[in-house]
Amino acid sequence: MALIVYNTLTRKKEPFEPVTPGRVGIYLCGPTVYKPSHIGHAVGPIIFDAIKRYLVHCGYKVTWVVNITDVDDKLIVEAAKQNTTTMKLAEKVTRDYLAAMATLHVDGIDIMPKASEHIADIIAIIQRLVDRGAAYPSNGDVYFDVTKDADYGKLSNRRLDDQEGQRDLQSGEKRNPGDFALWKAAKHEEPEEVKFDSPWGKGRPGWHIECSAMAMRYLGETFDIHGGGLDLVFPHHENEVAQSESATDKPFAKYWLHNGLTRFNTKKVAKSDADPEMQAALVKMTLHNLLAVYPGELIRFFVLSTHYRRPIEYSEAEIESKRKGLDTFYRLFERVERLCGQTPYIDAPPPKASAGAEIQSRILLSAREQHAAAFTQSMDDDFNTAGAIAALFELATAINRFIEEQKLESGGGDAGKQDAHWATAHLVGLGRLIGLFLEPPSKRIAADDGVADKAMKVLIQVRQHLRKKKDFESADLIRNLLSEQKITLEDRPDGTLWRAE
Ligand SMILES: [Zn+2]
Repeated sequence: MALIVYNTLTRKKEPFEPVTPGRVGIYLCGPTVYKPSHIGHAVGPIIFDAIKRYLVHCGYKVTWVVNITDVDDKLIVEAAKQNTTTMKLAEKVTRDYLAAMATLHVDGIDIMPKASEHIADIIAIIQRLVDRGAAYPSNGDVYFDVTKDADYGKLSNRRLDDQEGQRDLQSGEKRNPGDFALWKAAKHEEPEEVKFDSPWGKGRPGWHIECSAMAMRYLGETFDIHGGGLDLVFPHHENEVAQSESATDKPFAKYWLHNGLTRFNTKKVAKSDADPEMQAALVKMTLHNLLAVYPGELIRFFVLSTHYRRPIEYSEAEIESKRKGLDTFYRLFERVERLCGQTPYIDAPPPKASAGAEIQSRILLSAREQHAAAFTQSMDDDFNTAGAIAALFELATAINRFIEEQKLESGGGDAGKQDAHWATAHLVGLGRLIGLFLEPPSKRIAADDGVADKAMKVLIQVRQHLRKKKDFESADLIRNLLSEQKITLEDRPDGTLWRAE
């Protein structure tokens, strides 16, 4: 099946055919850097990072642009509140944002243009619009005239007269209530650093035109995918389309992909023994706090476990349930490493239908092909990462079943162990197509001969001794006390394993 995507513009799924064969340009609206990001700001980058990885796997040369909005009303207000400059505040928030992206393995962004560095591009487009009669200056402001754009409203599916009653008339200088600012005249009380020279006097650009200018600068006047949260469809993206197409007479973005919004459910908190400080950090839920508590891979896995167009329900309970899911994979990887003496975190090429020769077992081979095909089918269907992850679970189950049926843990054959290793390496390879399993989880403590491991082995022996004496109460006490410290014990035929989170 070829790749199909849901296009907000046409309100249907369409075959994906890039403007230039073999190449894909993606523009994702990035953060306005005036306050710390929360998980909602990470959703778009995580999704589009997975989308880029998959498109690259499909053979496309992808350029992905995420802008930084560092010229904005909110930034001016917040900088004044904090008694700092907009530049300093923007730099600090941008730095934190980039650190969070790195932790989440959002590695694929090619260009991160800043609005403040593209004022000339922005002015050039506004000038084109003024010259064409699509925009008009008014007392140092410049407005886009929505009545001059015959298909205004096509993205958000709104009619112009639907909106007029809803628009505020703050300036009183617009021709039509729905007109929006492309350029805002500098106000006396604003700091000098946000006042840029223009043919209409000193001022600064409106938010919408910033994105149009940066998208066209790096991806051309017509490009493939424009992304963002559903809340941006109107007015931000509608206005981007209107001003861009009115300036160029060409289609702007071919496919508009919008991700569902994050719903915060603070009441649904998991029963846990987390300390109060940790709870408080979760309620604040800045990305920084979240990543101090949870590994980046877990947050990524959590986001990708829902298809991008659906809303994400955020709660501690949801994250904890995803942690259990992710642990299923980690346990399999450990099991296979123990059996085969080789980590499955190797650079195995992602499996293709024809490249399965290294797996001898026909049952395991066909399971791998079936679930790899299901993975691809899900991703080809509008980047359904939830379906792709379901296929990874199926493959993990099949490998675990194979290990048990072949009795690999109580001896078994070397061929079977090699098969399990290859199938698992391919599972890792599939996960990597959406940015999972890139490296072994960092917070686990490896079972080495360190002090922690020696102490744990003593505890495990004491617990076994208690169980032999049928003192199950004391044995369970050890397990429960460890569990409170986020250390889990796993009883296996070949002994008891421990794991710290
Ligand atoms: Zn934007």
